[in-house]
Amino acid sequence: MQPKYKRVLLKLSGESLAGKEGHGIDFDTVLKICRPIKTCSLMGVQIAIVVGGGNFWRGRSNGQMDRTRADHMGMLATAINALGVADALEQLGMQVRVQTAISMQEVAEPYIRNRAVRHLEKGRVVIFGCGTGNPFFSTDTAASLRAAEIEADIILKATMVDGVYDADPKINANAKKFDTLSYMDVLSKDLKVMDSTAASMCRDNHIPICVFSLEDPENIERVICGQSIGTVVKE
Ligand code: UDP
Repeated sequence: MQPKYKRVLLKLSGESLAGKEGHGIDFDTVLKICRPIKTCSLMGVQIAIVVGGGNFWRGRSNGQMDRTRADHMGMLATAINALGVADALEQLGMQVRVQTAISMQEVAEPYIRNRAVRHLEKGRVVIFGCGTGNPFFSTDTAASLRAAEIEADIILKATMVDGVYDADPKINANAKKFDTLSYMDVLSKDLKVMDSTAASMCRDNHIPICVFSLEDPENIERVICGQSIGTVVKE
């Protein structure tokens, strides 16, 4: 298989790192996800990753706390995941750098766009932690922001479902999967692909998004090599 893209931004939700437990990090699951990342990197594809934090904490789900503080906790959760994914990639022999949007220089590099691009050009995988560094945003928005900054060809949004449906496929057996969608469809039909801030950012910066299932982590390689799986959101 030959890669279709030169530089991709892979969004891994926190949930995807949790395995069957549904919480925390399952290291075998993380290793399974990292193997196709390595394969693609060895094919010459530049790979940046934005990790979520929902396997530990989501700011918006906590109604009892001040939202800003709860979101700070969520961003720290993404830093834990970034380190977990970095460790797995390193165990597979990869060169990795973690950059965080909130400074924690004893633990990771601060986010510096040009340095991130330089790492990518040298074949290192770059993992972005702490989302955008701001409360009231999501890691999907961080993915669209970083993809625009590093001029990624596409955002690969790995999820627990195999694409975007017109209804919840777990509830409605007649739910129809879309092969392609426009950004406007996502925004106007309120399809649960990503939040509207992230979708608008992708639309304004002409960044396509491929939503696909991580149930089989080899899908990462399939998508990067241009196989039509999942749902592609574009103009
Ligand atoms: N978060 C934030 N700003 C950001 C990105 C994330 O405040 O730019 C916080 C927010 O509380 C969010 C949590 O980090 O709920 C985890 O991120 P997200 O919910 O996007 O993770 P995922 O659902 O992808 O695992």
